[in-house]
Order: sequence, then structure tokens, then C-alpha cells
Amino acid sequence: MATVVSYGAAGTVTGSCHLLEANGIKTLIDCGMFQGSVEDKSYEPFGFDPSDIDYLILTHAHIDHIGRVPKLVKEGFNGVIIATEATIDVAYIMLQDAAKILIEEYNIIYRKAQRAGEEKSVRQPLYDLDDVENTFSKTIRFARYNQKIALCDFLAITFHQAGHILGSAFVEVEFTEGETDKKVVFSGDIGNKKRLVVDGLENGFYTNTLYIESTYGDRLHKSIDESIKEFKQAIIETIDRGGNVMIPSFALERTQEILYILKQMSENKELENVNVFLDSPLAIKATELYNKHPFFLNEENEKDVLELENPFTFKNLNLTQSVEQSIAINNFQDNTIIIAGSGMCTGGRILQHFKHRLWNPANSLIFVGYQVEGTLGRKIIDGTQFISIHKEKIAVRAKIYTINGFSAHGDQKDMLDWIDTFNGIENIYLIHGENYQARAFKDAIKARFDNVKVHIVKEREHIYI
Ligand SMILES: [Zn+2]
Repeated sequence: MATVVSYGAAGTVTGSCHLLEANGIKTLIDCGMFQGSVEDKSYEPFGFDPSDIDYLILTHAHIDHIGRVPKLVKEGFNGVIIATEATIDVAYIMLQDAAKILIEEYNIIYRKAQRAGEEKSVRQPLYDLDDVENTFSKTIRFARYNQKIALCDFLAITFHQAGHILGSAFVEVEFTEGETDKKVVFSGDIGNKKRLVVDGLENGFYTNTLYIESTYGDRLHKSIDESIKEFKQAIIETIDRGGNVMIPSFALERTQEILYILKQMSENKELENVNVFLDSPLAIKATELYNKHPFFLNEENEKDVLELENPFTFKNLNLTQSVEQSIAINNFQDNTIIIAGSGMCTGGRILQHFKHRLWNPANSLIFVGYQVEGTLGRKIIDGTQFISIHKEKIAVRAKIYTINGFSAHGDQKDMLDWIDTFNGIENIYLIHGENYQARAFKDAIKARFDNVKVHIVKEREHIYI
């Protein structure tokens, strides 16, 4: 009988890694990093032998879905990687960035330990830039949406648009056991039907088994239209009172959505004499990839790219690559909008801008993404009066806006509606959620669908499908 064992994103949101074994073929779906409070688990052994894996399917290029792939390669994986072309391109820049951060963190810890004479006890970095290069020297097969790839006589996979980020997919796996044909769908991360930048989530069809994320299984989002209105209002209010705007943003998807809205504002003459800075080398690179892959974008943006009008560029926009350019933004005292990473203010250039602007009540800080417990962004939202950056105490006096409706994940209703588009589901397995989120989602699924069994997957539990 075929089995699926989850080695990550079971009872938690990060570390996605699910091993399907059917007829002796081992297919790994995602190999992500554990993040936040479970970060250390990324350094533990996988729980399986990487050299045994035949295929590695990547649903999309967020670090919690791809962040352990170089470790997998370093430890012996020599199979075939299958993903959309956009996912491979994005994965390359994301993993390079991750490796740089891992090395920087290692160097800081090593120097500190060296001063105490304890450098021998310092854990080696998870991987380095060479491991990232090795990853992309493996055999890579590009998947196209809705085109079946036969891996062998009794195993085939098909990618479908997940409406989450550039290149994202949910994956349908078909296999034969004896005389029986079976199907299992792995959702990866799913968005919803209508997205600002990428194509929307494709409907389901027929499957026996569904592995589905449950990140927002316990909640409903505000509508995207309402959120855009709130966002524009926050910008206009701030500029009108002579202040500047800081937007901590994730490099992938959220930044492009923000640029898309700011471009509209620019064209509507709502940003006259305003300078917009995209102050993140990673976000600049990611935006280039959105232009490189127009067919992954929704119809409106695809058309814009094909007609050679970059949908993410407008006359007020400045891209700041170098550290010097970034520091020079400090000279702009008013009419300035700064988009910088990291999205949860745990590092990156946004901290430098906080130093110069967070103390000023005329300025605004607009959060456009979820701030995880324990991050600086969350501390600010929770109302802290002071923060400390590089040992300097900074008063939090800027006006704080929190816009909640920009999520790249579907909410409870989106996911229930999506489940409803499938035929034939007998079993639903919940992954990629904290236990309270998965429990609430399980109750909601049971309430809406009578004849479906729902199970919250535990890490390393053998599920027979
Ligand atoms: Zn994701």
C-alpha cells in the first residue's frame, strides 16, 4: 500500500516535507526550512535517506517549502527535481539569499564564541553558496500547468495553478496499485480565485485523497478591495500631513502587489512629487522574474508585460541596489515612500529606516503582511513604545497601520469552496497549520461535507492511502 509520511509542516506551518512512497518509487513533495520557534529542527537529520529519493517536487519557492533542498543535496539526493520554470528561477535567488543569511549568522555567532574561547561548539551553517549551486546542477524537469508528466508506467504527476505566488502549483499524483488507480492531491500553499498579480487558484477535479494546508483554516480575511482602499488612504493621509511612509514587505508577491497598487495611484496622479523607493536587492531581483514570466501572471498583468509596459514600474519609482544608495534615502525628508525588507522586520534595510523615521509622529509604518509572534513587527503592532536597533533605543511614534487583507493564502471560506470543487474525495489530511488552526479547519470541513474523513497529520505518522 502507498504511504505518505510528513517530515515537516505537520502540526506547524513551516518545514514542508512530505514523502510519498508508491510501488517502491519515493517522491518527496517540498523540502522546506523550519522557521520561527522551530528553526532548530532544520539542522536535525531528515528522518529518511536523501539518496533514496527518486523525485523531488517543488510546489513553490517560499523558503518554508524549498529551504532545506541544498541540505538534501549535500546529504546525497541525486534524483530529479520537478517544478515550474518560474519556481526554479525564484528558488535560485531565494536559496542564494538564504545561504548568505545562514553564513552571516554563522560568522556573528562564531566571532562571539571565539571571544569566549568556545568556537569549537559552534554549529556549522546549514549550507553555503556552493551547496546552492550544486542543487541547480541536478537534473531539473520543468512542469507546465495541466500537462501530465509520466514518471514511470504506474506514476504520473500534473501541476495546476495554485494562485499563491509566481510559479506556484498544487500537484496531482496518479498511481496504480494492482488493479486500482488512485489519486492524491497535495495543495502546497493555495491562494484564491482572484489575485492582484498572478493567476487565480484553479478549481479541483477528481481525487480520492487531498492533502491541504490549513494556515488560515481558522479565519476569514478582509476583502482585497477593502484592503486596497485602506492602504491608499494610509498613504494619502501621511503624505498630506507632510510625513513619510515605511512599508516592510516580503520580496515575493507582496512587493509586486504593492508596486501594482502604487502604479495605479501614480497614474491617477495621487502620488505627485512623491518618491517611491524599492530598497531591497532581493525584491528587485524577484520583480525582474515577474517580468520574465508573464504567462504566470493574471490576464491584465500578462498583457502589460507582453506589450512591453512593465506593470511594476512607474515614474516615481526608484530601485536602490547598493548600500550607498540605500543610505542616501535618508536625505529625502518628506514625500517619501520606502518599501524594504524584511517583511517581519527581523533584519534587512527596513531597520535602518526605522532608526531615521520611526520616532517621528508625522511618519507612518504600514504593515501589509502577517507578523509572526516573537518578531519585531509583531512587537510594534502589539504597541511597544520603544524598540532597540543595533543597541540604540528608538521611540515608536510613527502612526502604525495594519492592513490584513493582502494574504497570499486563501482563508477558511476560500479553502472550503475549493474543496467543494473536487469530486470523489474520501479522505482529507490537514497539514501546514498550527494545531489550533487545523482543528478549527477540521470542524469547518466536517460541518460542510458529510461523507469525508478528516485527519490532522502528525509529524512522521505513516498515512496509508
Ligand atoms: Zn507559500
